[in-house]
Amino acid sequence: MTIAEHDPLTTASTQLLIGGKWRSGERDATFEVFDPSTGSSICDVADASANDAIAALDAACQVQSAWAATAPRERSEMLRRAFELMMTRRDELASLVTLEMGKPLAESIGEINYAAEFLRWFSEEAVRVHGEYRMAPSGSSKILTTRQPVGPSLLVTPWNFPMAMVTRKIGPAIAAGCTTVVKPAEQTPLSALVLGEILREAGVPDGVCNIVPTSRPQEVVTALLGDPRLRKLSFTGSTQVGRLLMSQAAGNLLRLSMELGGNNPFMVLADADIEAAVEGAMVAKLRNMGQSCVAANRFLVHAAVAEEFSDRLTARLGSLRVGPGGDEGVDVGPLIDEAQRQRVAGLVDDATRAGATVRVGGSAPSGAGYFYAPTVLEDVSSGAAINREEIFGPVASIRTFASDEEVLVAANETVQGLAAFVYTRNLGTALRAVDSLECGMVGINRGLVSEVAAPFGGIKHSGLGREGGSEGIHEYLSVKYAAIQI
Ligand code: NAD
Repeated sequence: MTIAEHDPLTTASTQLLIGGKWRSGERDATFEVFDPSTGSSICDVADASANDAIAALDAACQVQSAWAATAPRERSEMLRRAFELMMTRRDELASLVTLEMGKPLAESIGEINYAAEFLRWFSEEAVRVHGEYRMAPSGSSKILTTRQPVGPSLLVTPWNFPMAMVTRKIGPAIAAGCTTVVKPAEQTPLSALVLGEILREAGVPDGVCNIVPTSRPQEVVTALLGDPRLRKLSFTGSTQVGRLLMSQAAGNLLRLSMELGGNNPFMVLADADIEAAVEGAMVAKLRNMGQSCVAANRFLVHAAVAEEFSDRLTARLGSLRVGPGGDEGVDVGPLIDEAQRQRVAGLVDDATRAGATVRVGGSAPSGAGYFYAPTVLEDVSSGAAINREEIFGPVASIRTFASDEEVLVAANETVQGLAAFVYTRNLGTALRAVDSLECGMVGINRGLVSEVAAPFGGIKHSGLGREGGSEGIHEYLSVKYAAIQI
């Protein structure tokens, strides 16, 4: 399949979705969405103002109690239908993701599968929300616990997985009985908008899912966080913005789920299967052109195997085809925008100034689009900025270590704590690493940790709360307890 087989622009609405109606923004304002593989404009999308956002919250609040009272089975079946609809339209939706975000079509198909699975998973979780009835230790009373939806929730999502980051939030919100206002990233609003259509077609009532793309996220999100009717914020994005929103959310003491940035170590220990490690590195580094919060950011490789690992990784990265994500045979698409490309180039230049060697890549090809060549850097000094900052690009930065103990200490030398990857043949070493790594997720001999049925999330500056798994729905539920005297 190529992108030309579908016209992605007929796929999605370009208006705001408020109270079940597609409408333009206040004063008919719009903003442009760009194709990162050419830099040219794709279309104009309605630009929500703070007043539009409050209208969306009005719609969410109006139906919150009726929505909370629907049968869990009904909500479950809506999600199941939405899953089926996404799968039926998978190729068309994948084309849209590639168009607005840039990733190769095969990866976009993977994203649609992953995104749809959240709807199916939470359709199954919707009917498994339990309470308890137990005796107080004194024997004098009974304790009844039930779970209730938190209430109207604001879902703020990033551009890197424009469909999956929305379904990972809206799936559990719908399952739990919360109404929502979705604020997608301004670079990629179209995927969220088509999801709004799919949810409506699946029977989700007017007002439950409201979508407000905007070119002014600060203004819109600030207005919503300042409204005492909002009960929850679920945010995925950078640590910097996450910290700002947490402080704003403190005013109304909102429930928070924060999925923030990572600085994930990828450790290759002396006894690792090097072929498997290179295979894992390709996924952990190259998926989404490196623009993933769980991308490998620091390759920490034992000196005894460093040359072999580096040679093989260099050969693999050097053979990748870079180009527009919609073209046949392309492995690596563009970065999201010029600012992102400049950041990546700046980190590479800083590392080479500090003594790193470029094994392959290290530059941006000329021509249209925000491409950056897959790059391997060796001998990166520990002080280089690339060790501290999230790269968010196709650059593998390698440092060597003399002992496995030293590697584990270096892995934790970061304020972030999202994911880590360990390659070793020793089960004991692997399990000790799981215990000692300061992060929320560990890949053992595996370069991919994202899994719908597992709790995704971080510790330290990588965030709070978990998405997916049986934990995910609890982010949208609060526990109520009744003390009962019989
Ligand atoms: P970002 O923080 O710039 O933007 C994320 C969202 O916040 C967007 O919707 C944006 O419009 C909005 N936003 C930006 N500034 C805002 C402000 N001042 N007030 C209110 N809203 C604002 O992040 P990004 O560049 O879109 O995404 C990349 C970041 O997301 C990376 O750091 C990545 O690690 C992180 N991420 C984390 C996860 C995870 O699950 N932990 C998943 C994907 C991405």
